Amino acid sequence: MPYCPKCRAEYVYGVRYCLDCDEAVVEALPEEAKTANVKFVTAFQARHVMEAHLIQGILEAEGIPCLLVGAREGVYPQLPVFIQVPEDRLEEAQQLIEEVRESPPPPDPDLQDEPIF
Ligand SMILES: [Zn+2]
Repeated sequence: MPYCPKCRAEYVYGVRYCLDCDEAVVEALPEEAKTANVKFVTAFQARHVMEAHLIQGILEAEGIPCLLVGAREGVYPQLPVFIQVPEDRLEEAQQLIEEVRESPPPPDPDLQDEPIF
């Protein structure tokens, strides 16, 4: 089925341009757009939102998409947050997290607020 690469609408054969965004449709969505169908599993339980964001940044820098599940920022900042990654990247993600936890990065000068834990 043709898809719009921009809004991911699915079209019937014969449609050449997306009706909504005027983009030329493609035969199949690019690889990264398929993550919607990927099962996400918990790779790590962060102690709080800040730690979760730190790990999220590291994973995303390596090209691993991740979801934060749990406390919402600013609401319950001291509750644990689950970091979920696609099932097929789990091992890779856990290795990265392991490395981070062994050698914590230097403190970010922007985050010199009161400690939150
Ligand atoms: Zn579109």
